[in-house]
Amino acid sequence: MVIHTVGHARTYEMEALLKLFRPAERFDFSSEPEIPAGEVLSAVLADGHLTCVTRIGREELCAETDVPADIPNNLLDRTLSSLLYPQLCALTGLRPAWGMLTGIRPVNLLRKFRERTGSLAAAQSEFRDVWHVTEEKIQLASDILAVQQPILDAAPENGVGIYLSVPFCPTRCKYCSFVSNSVAQMGRLIPDYLQCVHREMQLVSQIIDECGLRVDSVYIGGGTPTAIDLYQPLDWIDRYLLPEPGSLREFTVEAGRPDTITRENLAVLRQFGVTRISVNPQSFQDHVLKAAGRPHTAQDAVDKFLLAREMGFSNINMDFIAGLPEDTVQGFRGSIDRAVALSPESITVHCLSLKKAADFYQSLAMPEPAAVSEMVAYAQETLTQAGYRPYYLYRQKNMAANLENVGYAKPGFESPYNVMMMDDSQTILGIGAGASTKVLGGRRGIERLTECKYPYDYLARFDGLMQQKERDLRALLKK
Ligand code: SF4
Repeated sequence: MVIHTVGHARTYEMEALLKLFRPAERFDFSSEPEIPAGEVLSAVLADGHLTCVTRIGREELCAETDVPADIPNNLLDRTLSSLLYPQLCALTGLRPAWGMLTGIRPVNLLRKFRERTGSLAAAQSEFRDVWHVTEEKIQLASDILAVQQPILDAAPENGVGIYLSVPFCPTRCKYCSFVSNSVAQMGRLIPDYLQCVHREMQLVSQIIDECGLRVDSVYIGGGTPTAIDLYQPLDWIDRYLLPEPGSLREFTVEAGRPDTITRENLAVLRQFGVTRISVNPQSFQDHVLKAAGRPHTAQDAVDKFLLAREMGFSNINMDFIAGLPEDTVQGFRGSIDRAVALSPESITVHCLSLKKAADFYQSLAMPEPAAVSEMVAYAQETLTQAGYRPYYLYRQKNMAANLENVGYAKPGFESPYNVMMMDDSQTILGIGAGASTKVLGGRRGIERLTECKYPYDYLARFDGLMQQKERDLRALLKK
């Protein structure tokens, strides 16, 4: 299909809209004066007049409207979408669950609408009438908003979250689109990586002290942090970053892959006061795990979960993915049922997202949307009945069925870090390669600092990166 634009440059926004209907397709682009032949999504802006055309197969729909000559981009996006979206629905027969919302944080948007309109009902109407979000998703976003409010309210005013990135994994899962480097191939970088992380942590600690900030949560993610020896980084966090004992709202380590979890590394996590870990089965179907390139069995995940319980971890999360190759609705239901029987404190249900960085990207078609929708609906119903509440949600590009990832937790076991980070409600100071830093304030309300994604790049450019980071953080954080 061709995306055709004349008189404006909203190509990216039109592509995002089209991807709601054709998530895996690659599009061509044209800005020739004439609408190209064949399947097309066209928006022509000329002399204060916007004409939108969608042609799919042999059918074509056209809509037009007048717009102010100086229409700002956000309003133009909305006008374009309001003309093109109904055409796409009519010609494809599809109705995306999140309507024409393309952003990754619908709950955050609902909160902003509530603030602007003054009531939840008015915000919900805007979701329904302007953005065409389905009732089911409006309810889900509203439920999450209610669960999040006390967590947002309890945040200390000068609180910051710390994210330490450990971008190493024992091997790479086939669906992975994160920055994760296999220990076998890149393990030689780990000693230098840790030394740089140590220096960056000292810098961050110094700035936290200077600016009168307080660490509210620590989250060590990756990668798979437990793929490496965490004793040193945990010791440094303890020395440089932790406030008085017991004042952190959360201290999470993603243990993630069960094949990295041992009695010894769990003992180190306990020693340094880690309060929450993730043990991620992703599926309880062995053939699905094998197809996904995960070298562990369902029983391994159960065994490591029980080991963590035995060692005193009372807040454990489990991740699952709906839409993995070779999984079925029946198989996924079995995975969720088995998870509920184990009763972890939180369960996060992702939908498979195929990105270019994943091994699967070239070889795999997107999973059947109806099947993924059924999986997600089953998870929501089963987990809710079992006493879990949805508490955070985000969407990604190229997600199966254009749905969402949802974190469910038993009351009181929600992860404040996930809520604050996803809502852009707190400054997050990232440390390490692939860790993003975002600082509340500035013209946009939140400023994101440039990331360095890859460990070798992080090591090679470390001194310059730190000089820049120090300048940026001082400028943004010192009031
Ligand atoms: S464990 Fe997670 S980060 Fe590591 S390779 Fe698998 S999906 Fe990627």
